[in-house]
Amino acid sequence: MGIILIFIDGFGLSEPVTTNPYFFAATPCLDNLLEGHHFYASSMPLFSNAVTAKAVDAKLGVEGIPQSATGQTAIWTGINAQKRLGYHLHGLPNSQLKSIIIEHNIYRRLKALGKSVIFANAYRPSFFSSNHSYVSVSTFAAISAGLCLCTVDDLKMGTAVYQDITNKALQRMGEDVPLVPPVSAGKNLGQISKQFDLTVFEFFQSDIVGHKRDFIKALEIWTLLDEFLGGLLTNINLAEDLVIIISDHGNMEDLSHSRHTSNLVPLVGIGYGHRALRDVSNICEITPLIEEMHRRNDFHEIKGDLSASR
Ligand SMILES: [Zn+2]
Repeated sequence: MGIILIFIDGFGLSEPVTTNPYFFAATPCLDNLLEGHHFYASSMPLFSNAVTAKAVDAKLGVEGIPQSATGQTAIWTGINAQKRLGYHLHGLPNSQLKSIIIEHNIYRRLKALGKSVIFANAYRPSFFSSNHSYVSVSTFAAISAGLCLCTVDDLKMGTAVYQDITNKALQRMGEDVPLVPPVSAGKNLGQISKQFDLTVFEFFQSDIVGHKRDFIKALEIWTLLDEFLGGLLTNINLAEDLVIIISDHGNMEDLSHSRHTSNLVPLVGIGYGHRALRDVSNICEITPLIEEMHRRNDFHEIKGDLSASR
């Protein structure tokens, strides 16, 4: 019984309009899950036997456009970081957010329950020789919880996944790694997850593409993600495992401009206990829900106060 949490940066929900790449994207795996090409805000919520898909709030009661540092802190900790700061902070976490991450991050919370956790993203050798002063929320959360970060050697063995899924970016930077088809990368993530109670993977090319307003690349990313998800689902047991997909703010769903959006973001649950996501209304409730599922060793019927009021 494991949870695979896939975080996709800058991945909001829009409508079937020409500025939304998803409107034109080929996504057979997701279409099959959602029983149609329904990944739109107005189509949510979608409930089926295998899937719960919702549009959830990323603003958390704070004025302005949601940003990465606060949004990701909210996801990785369950704390309303925006509210604590009083604004949405972009980019990397500041000292106040780092304090929240150290105390409340999802890895630490699950380890306290005796659960095994992994952040499955691989890091380049140069990362390990740096002092880690400027790192994202995801990286800081893993380091502060004492996790061993995955390496290029892990990638070669299929025991990690690179942030771009295929290793193409790594090859361009001169690393001697094989290209991995998205389906295979998804299967690799599934294989990794078999050894852990929680497996986390972060993908942020979506946010980069949104800022660049690169429509062609955005379509490629949709295909990439769809194939990756398809591969993952063939290599996990949906009767025992739960896949959760979440984002920190919108961006790639609206290429009419190059900024983040205040759109709702998708929350998708696939597999065992997915119905427990029905009551989730914002990004702050993900970590408490996952913690509660593992505390009970039961992913069903999780109720109670998971609100972002802390
Ligand atoms: Zn961004």
